Amino acid sequence: MKLLNQTKIAFTSRSVNEGFARAALAAFLVQLDPTVPQLADLKTAVSEAVTNCIVHAYPDAVGPISMTVSLYEADIVRITVQDRGVGIPDVAKAMEPLYTTGDPEERAGLGFAVMQSFMDKVRVTSRPGRGTRVTMTKQLERRG
Ligand code: ATP
Ligand code: MG
Repeated sequence: MKLLNQTKIAFTSRSVNEGFARAALAAFLVQLDPTVPQLADLKTAVSEAVTNCIVHAYPDAVGPISMTVSLYEADIVRITVQDRGVGIPDVAKAMEPLYTTGDPEERAGLGFAVMQSFMDKVRVTSRPGRGTRVTMTKQLERRG
């Protein structure tokens, strides 16, 4: 897979930055001329990943988040969202639909399921106390 272009941005885990990450992603992807639905899917996946960093990685604190967007040949988009927060002790369990450690009034436990449904592949690596990295890949279908 040949890397054609890449950007990396860093921001703090303030909830306002969920919108910033979505907008930054959209701005970078202009070069691919994505369809509105393609862009919406990618933005939704990024929203879920960034929201998880804001809500879960740094409970009662503010910490660093980085997002890397890589464009490969054949319209393959790879997005990595990384934090240095509390980490996830059992990634497989955390990725099960409806599993949440958050407030059940506010959290559905569907963030990872949403990422998986909107992307081709989602990979999560995490170390408790060190942080979490979510890598999501999608190949955009070319316009007919
Ligand atoms: P929803 O996304 O539906 O609001 P949720 O965030 O709890 O609810 P998921 O996004 O699927 O659901 O995440 C499942 C669980 O994985 C979370 O409840 C949390 O325990 C853990 N988790 C996810 N991302 C992180 C992260 N970046 N750092 C620490 N824990 C995380
Ligand atoms: Mg979530």
